Amino acid sequence: MGVYQTILLAVDLSDEADQVAARAAGLAAAHGAQLHVAHVIEPLSFAYGGDIPIDFSTIQEEIQKQAENQLQGLCSRLNIPAARLHLVMGRPENEIHALAKSLPADLIVVGSHGRHGLALLLGSTANGVLHGATCDVLAVRVG
Ligand code: AMP
Repeated sequence: MGVYQTILLAVDLSDEADQVAARAAGLAAAHGAQLHVAHVIEPLSFAYGGDIPIDFSTIQEEIQKQAENQLQGLCSRLNIPAARLHLVMGRPENEIHALAKSLPADLIVVGSHGRHGLALLLGSTANGVLHGATCDVLAVRVG
């Protein structure tokens, strides 16, 4: 088979997400594939490591609501049914890999900034998704 059947688009909900989404939607249409869209919310506690005793639950709820709205907006612009929209919590690379396996997806689409230097050394989400993926990964150049 030369065509993709299930495409998983990972979006960070930045301004550039629409560019990446447009490419994924075009590919899905050309291949007659099902397009799923995922956004991963990183728990604030990851960033703070639990050193500071702050209750993040209200902020976290607000972040979740906003992400939901943005994800729904993007999906309705692309005519993607709600059942193919995935909002999950965790580390983006891990959650995207898990979702790609469980669907299963045969292509993951991410955005890439083509970073240089230190950012390249440290790795980006796009790199993280590529490494350890069990299916094809397309990095769409943005910016
Ligand atoms: P970054 O390396 O963080 O600039 O992100 C590059 C790409 O990784 C984005 O265009 C998305 O495709 C994906 N990505 C980054 N963060 C997330 C996230 N929280 N949820 C889903 N995908 C993400």
